[in-house]
Amino acid sequence: MTFTSAPARRPRVVILGGGFAGYEAANALAKYSDRLDVVLVNSTDYFLYVPLLPEIAAGLLPPRHLCVSLRRWGRRVKLHLGRADSIDVKAHTVAVVGPEGERTELAYDRLIITVGSVTRVLPIPGVAESGHGLRNVAEALFLSDHITHQVSMAAATDDPQEREARLTFVVVGAGYTGTEMAAQGVLFTDRLTESIPALANAKAKWLLVDIAERVMPELDRRLSHTADTVLRRRGVEILTKTSVDEAEHGAVTLTGGRRVPTHSLIWCVGVKPDPLVSAIDLDVDRGRLVVDAHMRIPNYPDVFACGDCAAVPDLTKPGNVTGMTAQHATRQGKRAGLNVAASLGFGTMHEYKHRNLGFLVDLGGVDAAANPLNIPMSGPLAKLVTRGYHWLALPHNKRRLLGEWIINLFGAPPGVQLGLIRSEDVSLKPADHPHATAAAGQPEPEDSR
Ligand SMILES: Cc1cc2nc3c(=O)[nH]c(=O)nc-3n(C[C@H](O)[C@H](O)[C@H](O)COP(=O)(O)OP(=O)(O)OC[C@H]3O[C@@H](n4cnc5c(N)ncnc54)[C@H](O)[C@@H]3O)c2cc1C
Repeated sequence: MTFTSAPARRPRVVILGGGFAGYEAANALAKYSDRLDVVLVNSTDYFLYVPLLPEIAAGLLPPRHLCVSLRRWGRRVKLHLGRADSIDVKAHTVAVVGPEGERTELAYDRLIITVGSVTRVLPIPGVAESGHGLRNVAEALFLSDHITHQVSMAAATDDPQEREARLTFVVVGAGYTGTEMAAQGVLFTDRLTESIPALANAKAKWLLVDIAERVMPELDRRLSHTADTVLRRRGVEILTKTSVDEAEHGAVTLTGGRRVPTHSLIWCVGVKPDPLVSAIDLDVDRGRLVVDAHMRIPNYPDVFACGDCAAVPDLTKPGNVTGMTAQHATRQGKRAGLNVAASLGFGTMHEYKHRNLGFLVDLGGVDAAANPLNIPMSGPLAKLVTRGYHWLALPHNKRRLLGEWIINLFGAPPGVQLGLIRSEDVSLKPADHPHATAAAGQPEPEDSR
């Protein structure tokens, strides 16, 4: 498909979602702001650096360090606060619901859909009611408070069974999110119990459960091996080829019948594209929007999509689509922004092609598992590389993050509960999510991060 001419007035580009892909698309398009109107729609006024969320959940980082303002481009990119509710690709409009419920219709000449992904909840009895995910600031802060609360309740009771339940944490999903959560979580509870005299001889029990045969099944076996060794050394019980049969108040029953008394079910089984994707009438591939290698939607050359919500062909592995990672989303967003500019007459379009540069998994303390450029690493060297990568990849707030990491070398922050997020505010229940009805029954991609 070719674009013959640009519209006479200043064309308007609307970007839906200010995550890794949307942020980079906006950044690329900001350079053309003298010729284009760029509007970025996002429900928050910040971009969230998601990979370091486990450090917030483990009480180590204040959330604002990972939040980068989406107003940083000034007039060059207009931030429109709200959630896209529907898209009319024939009329070239997007309906947006603002923070106070007001509806706006935005017309576009080009649209980039980068709405990312949400936690995937399986239809297991009780999970939606009892489980908590780790996908945004509210969930990470909730987990940090919840873990601290459970340890406090354990200290307050004389009932050994109650104490054991309070000090038991079940993480479901041993992808890199669940693995990092368990690794950071056990260090967090060790710190908390050590600081409370009533728990002097107590150690919290962490279980990491996955249906797969090994932790981080989606990554190189050497990374799995490192993570497995570190977790076991810290006392985490790893249960592979295992899932959850039922969750109820105060207990989780695993497949095979083992009943684990606990008040903490941390749900990290993976993600699925944002429900907006299934609410629009466009083709999907296992739940992700079908796009070509230029990240354009077939038959709608003015609509582009990338990041977790789009099935971008992986030209380095013909027949496959790129994984749901920040590494891809960042590069795709930039390329999509440049391709949109090219479609309006500024520059040249290119296909997206990126070879995986490896993966970095922060295991807390001085441990990490990494394979940058396919070179396997573990221990403090991997930790240094992992931290260095995240520090460079965070687009802003670098000095704050570095400062916090340095301060933490001399002692972790106090383990106190802020009490800001209620359990119901971070519910996994699909009914509490916008577009829930439209999303029900759609095939989902298999991403077990
Ligand atoms: C705990 C954790 C750790 C991770 N660690 C790593 C890692 O180490 N390395 C790695 O490569 N990847 C990692 N990932 C995966 C990575 O975070 C995602 O692949 C990445 O965030 C995808 O970027 P995105 O821009 O597609 O979506 P997102 O970053 O999810 O951004 C989507 C944005 O769209 C907004 N949005 C959603 N719906 C709407 C709507 N209807 N209207 C408007 N805006 C909307 C959201 O609020 C959000 O701002 C991790 C993920 C998690 C959860």
